[in-house]
Amino acid sequence: MTRLIEQLNSIVGKAAVITDPQEVTPYATDWRKRYFGMPLAVVKPASTAEVAAVVKLCAATRTGIVPQGGNTSLCGGATPLAAEDANRFAPGGAQIVLKLSRMNRVRAVDPVNNTVTVEAGCVLANVQQEAAAAGRLFPLSLAAEGSCEIGGNLSTNAGGTAVLRYGNARDLVLGLEVVLPDGRIWDGLRALRKDNTGYDLKQLFVGAEGTLGIITAAVLKLFPRPRARATALVALESPARALELLSHMQGACGDRVTGFELMSAFCLSLVTRHFPATRLPFARTYAQYVLLELSDTASAESLDAALQAALGEAAERGLALDAAVATSETQAAALWALRENIPEAQVREGQQIKHDISVPISCIAEYIDVTDAELQRAFPGVRMVTFGHLGDGNLHYNIAPPAGADADAFMARASAVSRVVHDGVARFSGSISAEHGLGQYKRGEILRYKSPLEMELMRRIKAALDPQGIMNPGKVLQ
Ligand code: FAD
Ligand code: ZN
Repeated sequence: MTRLIEQLNSIVGKAAVITDPQEVTPYATDWRKRYFGMPLAVVKPASTAEVAAVVKLCAATRTGIVPQGGNTSLCGGATPLAAEDANRFAPGGAQIVLKLSRMNRVRAVDPVNNTVTVEAGCVLANVQQEAAAAGRLFPLSLAAEGSCEIGGNLSTNAGGTAVLRYGNARDLVLGLEVVLPDGRIWDGLRALRKDNTGYDLKQLFVGAEGTLGIITAAVLKLFPRPRARATALVALESPARALELLSHMQGACGDRVTGFELMSAFCLSLVTRHFPATRLPFARTYAQYVLLELSDTASAESLDAALQAALGEAAERGLALDAAVATSETQAAALWALRENIPEAQVREGQQIKHDISVPISCIAEYIDVTDAELQRAFPGVRMVTFGHLGDGNLHYNIAPPAGADADAFMARASAVSRVVHDGVARFSGSISAEHGLGQYKRGEILRYKSPLEMELMRRIKAALDPQGIMNPGKVLQ
């Protein structure tokens, strides 16, 4: 083992190899503090050549590699395996964490081609700022943007609040540079919008959660920077009405509809209880709310007028029961705070069983009705904390214990609760993970929902690229 550490030291420098258990711990623990595994070392390369040399060494010694960016994975994807799993999945049981954060250079910005070329360790918020400095927009946006990194975003095919208009990470990448599991470097850093020369290899690595290779750099798409944003909170009767409102807004405002987030009254009651500075802009409580955002490169006046006209019609048709339109940046931020504080309000409220599911947008209201009822029958009194990206068919469908119930006893039934949720998803031809990925958390659960043929194809791709199974062992596949 000491020999391996010495070799790692000689590749990246002693200061970039951490072996002290106390210093390793933060890298070995996931964001939710549910997973922990002790790697031999945390290695922090500063260049693609260093990544390649480290991977070559790991391939020669059959050492498992756990790529890590910002370590905000919610499914244990970036966390090394605990001893028992390591012995089961990692060849020889040994693993290192490969931390890419030092690779944080912006290699090129091309405003005419509307692209930026960045290294994997660039923090998402910094890429957004780099785009803004060039008068452009990089639209990927999520609550972890201050710490998550582009390599992690691409490896999880991250979504967020602007997917409705711009797509998820998969739609925002034109080229990749990848260190393959044998240490060779694939230079696929093309900046082309059209390229029909065979298989689209880069898309294999997007959403692969680090199981097929290490992304070291990417060419990302930029967009015109919107000059105007308009934000409104709309009160509604039900998720079905929210779906009608979505169609109505898209019909009236086209692709200016950038965000369309559903939040139940219960979600917002948690926010106002745990964040006393927040408040709802209505005199009474409604069952459901939609946070709606439009953006446009044209003037603010024309965007506001379009929003007001569309909301007026929605009110006449009985879709919108009430609406509050932000008249300043501060008011828009206050409306977004209601949405953005839901995850933290849930934490403060106590333990909950969480899901990030998707179904076809047209089925989402029916999914909620049917699954809510089924859960109430099976687990009377559970409190539904349902919110999310209705415009993408993606819900955070979370379940809190009945009021006053013992939270630990409820959490012990998590698999049975998730079974109802995921079986429901399967009936609507949906997905059990629309955002966070499989990681360690759902690698067993997915076997129930993907066909044996699909699993076989995934395993064959894994075996073709990583025959030794050293890339992020025990994640996605088992
Ligand atoms: P990590 O957690 O470090 O890694 C994630 C996965 O990618 C792991 O499997 C890791 O091994 C692999 N990986 C990392 N870097 C590389 C690389 N260079 N090459 C190969 N594999 C690599 N996700 C969403 O999709 N939408 C959201 O709205 C959203 N909101 C969130 C809000 C909060 C508060 C938090 C904590 C998380 C949220 N997430 C969301 C989940 C998470 O932020 C995303 O999955 C993010 O893309 C992970 O980026 P990261 O740099 O932290 O990756
Ligand atoms: Zn989300």
